[in-house]
Amino acid sequence: MQRQPLVIANWKMNGNRALVAELSEALQQQQAHYADVTVVVCPPAVLLPVWQAQPGVVALGAQDVNEHADGAHTGEHSLALVHEAGAQWVLIGHSERRQCYGDSEARIAQKLGQVLADSRFTAVLCVGESAEQREQGATFAVVEAQLSEALAQVSACERLVVAYEPVWAIGTGLTASPAQAQEVHGFIRHWLQEKFGSAGAAVQLLYGGSVKADNASELFAEADIDGGLIGGASLQPEQFVAICTAA
Ligand code: PGA
Repeated sequence: MQRQPLVIANWKMNGNRALVAELSEALQQQQAHYADVTVVVCPPAVLLPVWQAQPGVVALGAQDVNEHADGAHTGEHSLALVHEAGAQWVLIGHSERRQCYGDSEARIAQKLGQVLADSRFTAVLCVGESAEQREQGATFAVVEAQLSEALAQVSACERLVVAYEPVWAIGTGLTASPAQAQEVHGFIRHWLQEKFGSAGAAVQLLYGGSVKADNASELFAEADIDGGLIGGASLQPEQFVAICTAA
């Protein structure tokens, strides 16, 4: 099954207006080199309108959304708000949200359901095990539990992307080997096909965790790795453009 390559920048709480201009320009200049790759940038929400004002070579995403449509939720952003700011993609369940900001499995399921119910958006569900869980041999069980809880109420996967991000590889410089990553991607693919039938074969699967320009090609060459979710390296225009080109 041919799936379109996809590379997503996750700026986390980094970047500024100057970097928007710098990365946008670098991407525009090199666009011919990654013409068949979908590139999405997820900046801090306050920078979405700044990206929106750039010439449109990238799609925009939000790093998270609140599970409610509106109301008294100080500091949070709704789906409608991020849409107005230009986002058509949303990351859900990033490990930093799970660990530090109260995103339980139930809350992730609510957020994901809300995003998938809105046909203007594509949801990127992030899953992955900790170092301890991997040492205990629990990787598949952890990933399976995250998938089944998040997707319990979901019956279609047309606008769903799954990102496998082993927690031990995020921001550590310890990239999963292509074989380690493919093993889990293959497992996720199988799980999606069991749940969604043949539509599961079309879901794009991303690897995330210390992807750099020099390890991107070998990761993306694996059968079930359709691209990457890029943190640190997405803040360096040259690195990020090279990663897009590798996809
Ligand atoms: P990293 O982050 O590329 O800096 O490891 C990836 C992520 O957290 O999405």
